[in-house]
Amino acid sequence: MEFVSIQTAIQQAINQKKEVMEKVSLRGWCYRERKSAKLAFIVLRDDTNTIQCVIERAIVSLETWTFAEQVCIESSIWVQGTLHEDKRAPTGYELHVTNMGIYQLAERFPITKDQSTEFLLDVRHLWLRSRELTNVWKVKAEVLRAIREFFLHKKYYEVTPPIITASSCEGGSTLFKIKYFEDEAYLSQSAQLYLEAMIFSLKRVYAITPSFRAEPSKTNRHLTEYWHLEGEEAFMNFEQLLSLEQELISFICTWVAEHAEEALKILGRDPEDLKKIITPFPRISYEEALEILKKDGIDVMWGKDLRTVEEEALMKHYDKPLLVTRYPKEIKAFYMKDDPNDKRVVLCCDVLAPEGYGEIIGSSERETDVNILIAKLKAQGEKPEHYNWYLDLRRFGSVQHSGFGLGVERVVRWLCKLESIRDAMPFPRTIKRMTP
Ligand code: ATP
Ligand code: MG
Repeated sequence: MEFVSIQTAIQQAINQKKEVMEKVSLRGWCYRERKSAKLAFIVLRDDTNTIQCVIERAIVSLETWTFAEQVCIESSIWVQGTLHEDKRAPTGYELHVTNMGIYQLAERFPITKDQSTEFLLDVRHLWLRSRELTNVWKVKAEVLRAIREFFLHKKYYEVTPPIITASSCEGGSTLFKIKYFEDEAYLSQSAQLYLEAMIFSLKRVYAITPSFRAEPSKTNRHLTEYWHLEGEEAFMNFEQLLSLEQELISFICTWVAEHAEEALKILGRDPEDLKKIITPFPRISYEEALEILKKDGIDVMWGKDLRTVEEEALMKHYDKPLLVTRYPKEIKAFYMKDDPNDKRVVLCCDVLAPEGYGEIIGSSERETDVNILIAKLKAQGEKPEHYNWYLDLRRFGSVQHSGFGLGVERVVRWLCKLESIRDAMPFPRTIKRMTP
């Protein structure tokens, strides 16, 4: 028996303009079933689509009818039969079964309608087969593919930084400590410092790695383990960095709209909306952000970071991603370069997604002077000797350079219109959960 996917079978029938196609063999899982004395209806599901299969007792063998009677939700099965055009069917076709078999008869499936979010997370290993989540995985795979395509065009090298590290990058409070033989180590929060080292060898590098943050708060946009795309380029100035980020986001949106069109539609995202995410994106400084907020009646003191509520209020004014630049240096990392025109701020940029999905990129031009770096580390209460290898990068051929970090699940959440970032991960890790 030669099996094809449900989508391939339907597409073949459409291409050959056939109302009936004989001897089609499909396999997958029972999505729904309903039976009467004479007829059984099984909706078969595979990775590509679903199709209704009809089994008529009067015309199939006793063996096949017995199988049809036994089948329950999530049993794995194969079916063989004739594909018939049926205008009423959701996919336009139906399978009239001549023969079928069961690989494994499922036990009673624990997931039924209207179950709590917590229960669905407990049975995540089963729930991830759901129609909604299956389509999220498809979109996510295309986001990752888009990223790799983009950087191929841009002549970047993909590199593999370490996950086990001895020092922090984004601040000690969200570090996961692990035992490393006799020593202590940490799970990486960001590969940035390592990527900075690699530009002296490869000039343009990017990495897609897991990042770990012991985020103490429960929000819809924080995971404790997420996939982080980071890029770094030698000789790149701040303006070029901003262009690269916009191009990247626009490329991902167009790519996904074209390569995951069906999945997006099922998730309630119109692919046409994503095709409108084209450059240039609106751009404002932190200072301008405060002015806009003030007009909306929201007072943020200069020097304070923008919180989720403020970002949301800001984004009411925009329907494309927004670049917010030049934050006060006190609230940003030590490696960010001071703005030569205003020493109070740094050459950094956060990209905020539209529709209230929040920050998707953090980025900056990097400080190149070893003495300024040392002073900044000290000012933040860090010991410069902990960063000796990193400081060496400024001692041996230091050059202007810039880079960014993008949260893959943050982007997937936005593109798929997900309520929570958890659903952008097959097995999400959050403050309360690390199973299954
Ligand atoms: P936030 O203010 O939202 O916590 P951050 O300023 O801590 O973000 P960065 O340190 O700049 O974020 O990390 C780079 C990118 O990684 C962010 O723009 C975001 O897309 C993503 N990111 C950061 N923390 C998380 C997390 N806990 N879960 C998922 N993605 C994250
Ligand atoms: Mg954070």
